[in-house]
Amino acid sequence: MADRQRDVQKPDLGRRDFLKTVTTGAAGAVAGAAPLSAQTQPSRDHQVLPSDPALRTKALESLLVEKGYVDTATLDALIDTYEHKIGPHNGAKVVAKAWRDPAFKKRLLEDAPKAIAELGLTSGMGDHTVVVENTPKLHNLIVCTLCSCYPFSLIGLPPVWYKSAAYRSRAVIDPRGVLREFGTTIGDDVEVRVWDSTAEIRYLVLPERPAGTEGLSEEELASLVTRDSMVGVTKAGDSARAGRA
Ligand code: FE
Repeated sequence: MADRQRDVQKPDLGRRDFLKTVTTGAAGAVAGAAPLSAQTQPSRDHQVLPSDPALRTKALESLLVEKGYVDTATLDALIDTYEHKIGPHNGAKVVAKAWRDPAFKKRLLEDAPKAIAELGLTSGMGDHTVVVENTPKLHNLIVCTLCSCYPFSLIGLPPVWYKSAAYRSRAVIDPRGVLREFGTTIGDDVEVRVWDSTAEIRYLVLPERPAGTEGLSEEELASLVTRDSMVGVTKAGDSARAGRA
């Protein structure tokens, strides 16, 4: 039921090992190449080369390091942060805590950065975060009409659809239609409020706590909270549509 993003199995290889494998693979392909006579024939061996993005990444990194513009340890730390430390599991912790602790929820809605810091989740982006609460009478939806502003320290990097022109325009023009496309039906008696994120203020939706979850622990509750539910395109507990890319 956890967000699919969090279910993705990370390869055992570290990033550097992966890049090493990639370059070794390329060298291996050359060393093990067929004789020239045989190469005049179409061969699938030519497809052994690593993917273009992997080669380009390695080439760019090598150049930047060689010229002294970047340091490999800094790069590794930065990538590790984006791969493992930021993501929807952070936002899910905040939501689960708010569901179980009314006093925390009150602080969260009044001053999100301060409340989020109580959980050790402070970050530069968190300083500008505002949390908006879904209720039986109000459904909040987040968009950035200009680009893709988003509290990524809490919910991970923005998905492709969030950055698309279609979502950015239609979320404002026809929010209920967009929600229906995500499989989320909002009753006519429920107000839909759209929040336009900016570089200054980024919004996070506090979804409604699913019914029948009274006995769950904070960790169990957090597993019901998806990235999409914190953007407001789905509801919490809606695992079937979690992590839509
Ligand atoms: Fe933006």
